[in-house]
Amino acid sequence: MISFIGAGPGDPELLTLKGKRLIDAADVIIYAGSLVNPAVLADPKEGAKIYNSALMDLDEVIEVMEAAEKAGKKCVRVHTGDPAIYGAHREQMDRLDQLGITYEVIPGVSSFLGTAAALNAEYTLPGKSQTVILTRMEGRTPMPEREKLQDLAKHHASMVIFLSIGFLDQMTEQLLAGGYEPTTPVAVVYKATWPEQKIIRGTIADIEGKVKEAGITKTALTVVGDFLGSEHDLSKLYDKHFTTEFRKAKEE
Ligand code: SAH
Repeated sequence: MISFIGAGPGDPELLTLKGKRLIDAADVIIYAGSLVNPAVLADPKEGAKIYNSALMDLDEVIEVMEAAEKAGKKCVRVHTGDPAIYGAHREQMDRLDQLGITYEVIPGVSSFLGTAAALNAEYTLPGKSQTVILTRMEGRTPMPEREKLQDLAKHHASMVIFLSIGFLDQMTEQLLAGGYEPTTPVAVVYKATWPEQKIIRGTIADIEGKVKEAGITKTALTVVGDFLGSEHDLSKLYDKHFTTEFRKAKEE
């Protein structure tokens, strides 16, 4: 059985207990070397073979998995954040299905959650937005026709934009074309939860300049929306005049 493991956004203490137990016991570790913090692999089993998938294509990854299975060795595939978000683990699972090799997925803390934590932010702020859009810009790989940033921007939901820090000029242009005010708050978080984490706050109008000045060109998320502002409603969940399943409203 192959275990796909979400390594979390960076801080090795944000790896799940289950993920850590499986990594530490594995004979073969394939990890996404471009983003996974090597500290996540700090206590491997003696003699464990470690492969960096940044240097491998899909066939090579599957060959290593297949060889491990045939030899009766435990193989783990370590992805950054959670594999379900831009992890490209589906194509690996499909290949394993064809080969009759079983697998499981151990979720991880996605960088969009590490980013919210770094910002002390709640994406679903009452009276501002109750929807979170996770997306990316069209870059070297295309976006589906109905998912262009400009169209998604029309919802004024809380937006988290992956893989796109190199296209900030086009990003801000498209957000404005989608109807956001230039004063809408934006934050860019570089390497959320890593020791070198950087937070840049600004608006759609000035974020590009600030990010350039900070020299950030990769491993960053851009988050956009009024949830980053200072105003919002209070939740009903903790409202003393609101009855919930567990708590009766107080009379005054
Ligand atoms: N599966 C990952 C995302 C992989 S796509 C997850 O769940 O987080 C890679 C992109 O994720 C990067 O280009 C960057 O936009 C973002 N990213 C990954 N780790 C990050 C981190 N620690 N801080 C900020 N952005 C990060």
